[in-house]
Amino acid sequence: MSTQTLESLRAQISGSVITPGDAGYDEARQVYNFMIDRRPAAVVRCADAADVASVVRYAAETGTELAVRGGSHSVPGFGTADDAIVADLSAMSSVTVDASARTARAGGGTTWGGFNEATSAHGLATTGGVISTTGIGGLTLGGGIGYLTRGYGLSCDNLISAEVVTADGNTVTASETENPDLFWALRGGGGNFGVVTEFTFRLHPVTEIYGGPMFFELSDGPAILSYFNEFIKTAPREYGGFPAFQIAPPLPFVPEDRVGEPFVALVSCWSGSANDGEKILQGFRDIATPVAEHVGTMPYADLNGAFDALVPRGLQHYWKAEFVGDLTPEAIALHMEHGSRVPVVNSTVHMYPINGACHDVAPDATAFGHRDATYAVVIAGMWPDPADNDAHTQWVKDYDAAIAPLSQGGGYINFASADDQSKVAANYGANYARLREVKRRYDPTNLFHLNQNIEP
Ligand SMILES: Cc1cc2nc3c(=O)[nH]c(=O)nc-3n(C[C@H](O)[C@H](O)[C@H](O)COP(=O)(O)OP(=O)(O)OC[C@H]3O[C@@H](n4cnc5c(N)ncnc54)[C@H](O)[C@@H]3O)c2cc1C
Repeated sequence: MSTQTLESLRAQISGSVITPGDAGYDEARQVYNFMIDRRPAAVVRCADAADVASVVRYAAETGTELAVRGGSHSVPGFGTADDAIVADLSAMSSVTVDASARTARAGGGTTWGGFNEATSAHGLATTGGVISTTGIGGLTLGGGIGYLTRGYGLSCDNLISAEVVTADGNTVTASETENPDLFWALRGGGGNFGVVTEFTFRLHPVTEIYGGPMFFELSDGPAILSYFNEFIKTAPREYGGFPAFQIAPPLPFVPEDRVGEPFVALVSCWSGSANDGEKILQGFRDIATPVAEHVGTMPYADLNGAFDALVPRGLQHYWKAEFVGDLTPEAIALHMEHGSRVPVVNSTVHMYPINGACHDVAPDATAFGHRDATYAVVIAGMWPDPADNDAHTQWVKDYDAAIAPLSQGGGYINFASADDQSKVAANYGANYARLREVKRRYDPTNLFHLNQNIEP
C-alpha cells in the first residue's frame, strides 16, 4: 500500500505542483487542442529528470493515471486526462549545442522554435516540424517529418541518444550501444516506453534556404499534383517541400480579391543555392502560373515559424493520416474533390514526401514502420469555433474515407486522432510485433498508455 500523497510528492518536487483550486490551474490543465477539456488531479511542472522520476514513481505506486506532456500538440490531447497526474516537461527546454561535434542536447519539453533558435546560431539544424510551437518530444518519438526529411532523414533518424525515465522510475541512457532495444523503440514508437528527459541530436549545416508558399488555381491542381508526383521521385535531396490544400490568408502577397478562396499550394524549402532553387521552382511555374507566391531566401528557422499564426493555441483539432506510395490520377481526383472543400483558413491538407534520406534507413533499423511510403498525408482539421465541430470533423472523416482505400493501410501516428486506436497496428506497420516485445520488457503494466498505445 502506497503512503504517497500529493502533499508528499509536492515536497519532493523542485518544480511546481498545480492542483484544482491553485492559481493557474485552468491554464495548466489545458493542452493546445481546445476540443480537449480535462481536469487532472495535478499538473507537475517538472524542473529536471529527478522531478520526472518522482512523478512516474508516484503514478506507479498510487495507481494514478499518468499523462506526459512535452509541447502539448498531441491532437488527441494525450498530455492530459481527468484525475491524472501530468508530467509537464515544458520548463525542461534548455538546448546545448556542440558546434564542432555538430550535436545538440535538448530538454524533453523543448519546442522546435527553441531548438532551431539555438542551433541556427551556429548555422546548424536537424529535421524538425513545420510549426515552431510543436514539441521535439512527441514529434521525434513518433518519427518526425519536416522540410529536411528528404535531405537528412526523419527527426528520429538524427537521434544519437536519449535519457529516459522508465516505468520503474529509473533513469537510463538509450543509444546504439546502451539499451539498444529501447533506443530502437523510441525512434517511431511514440511515448510508449518512458519519459525522455533529454534528447541528443545530430546536426547538419543548414543556414539560408530558398522557399516559401505558392498558390495555384484549383483548376491547375491536377497538373501541379501530377507534376509534383513525378518530380519528387528523383528530386534532389535539397528539396523538402510539400503540396497542400489551403485557403489563402489575408497576407500582403495575396491579391485582395482572392483572400479566403481555396487553392492548391506548394510550400517549398530548398537547402541548396538560391539559383538552383529558382530553377527547380520554375518547373512548377512552367506547369501553371501561381495566383500568389511568397518565395525567396530566408533563414531556415524563419520558414519553420512562417505558418505559426495560422495555427494558434486554442483551436479545435481533428486529424486523419494515411501513408501513400504514389499519387495516382485516381488519388489526385479524390484529393481535388475533397481538398477543394477545405472549410476554413486554419485547416489544411499536407502531402509530405518522405523518400530521399528517409529511405536510406532500413525498414527495421528503427521502429518507424512505413519507410516504403513516398508520402505521409495529413488531413488536418483545425478551426476556432466549437459550433463547427460536427461539420468540420465530418469533412476530415469523409476525405479520409475516400483516400484510405488508395493508401498503404496505415497513417503516421503523430497525425492520428483519439478514435484511431483500432488502426494502431496498421499505423505502426511492419515493426508492430517487435514494438510489443519491447513494450513488455520496459512497461509491462502499460503505465505509459496515453499515446497511440502499444499494448504489452
Ligand atoms: C500545429 C501542429 C503542427 C504539426 N506539425 C508536424 C510536423 O511538421 N511534423 C511532424 O512530424 N508532426 C507534426 N505535428 C504532429 C506532432 O508530431 C504531434 O502532435 C506530436 O505528438 C507533438 O509532440 P508534442 O511534444 O508537442 O506533444 P505532447 O502533446 O506534449 O505529446 C504528444 C505525445 O508524446 C508524448 N511525449 C511528449 N514528449 C515526450 C517526452 N519527452 N518523453 C516521452 N513522451 C513524450 C506524450 O506523452 C504524448 O503521448 C504537428 C502537430 C500540430 C498540432
